Amino acid sequence: MSDCLFCKICSGDVNTDFVYEDDVCVVFRDINPKDKTHLLVVPKEHIASIADIESGHCELLGGLLHSCKVVAGKLGLSGYKLQINVGKDGGQEIFHLHIHLLSKFDS
Ligand code: 5GP
Ligand code: ZN
Repeated sequence: MSDCLFCKICSGDVNTDFVYEDDVCVVFRDINPKDKTHLLVVPKEHIASIADIESGHCELLGGLLHSCKVVAGKLGLSGYKLQINVGKDGGQEIFHLHIHLLSKFDS
């Protein structure tokens, strides 16, 4: 999606430091952190929202959760919360699926 901010971040068109990257996703720090650590786990594939997923996305979604575990381990986070905002009424502002990884610990 040419006008999608997170697609531009994934492709490098918008320069952003990645904390982690694998085949499925990139992970970077939220520009407006809501906790001591606030990461965004963003699939490289453009899917607008959880409201748009189909059964064919199950492997991708599992991969995203696995990436959350891996990046948290790399950063030494012993505990964290995962949040997905779904739809405008669910607080979603960027319509490219992402998982918020929040921790009370610094990283
Ligand atoms: P949403 O409300 O869609 O679930 O979350 C979008 C998140 O993206 C927000 O927490 C917001 O602070 C973050 N964000 C918006 N624009 C940028 C940006 O250009 N860079 C980074 N790193 N985060 C952004
Ligand atoms: Zn996108």
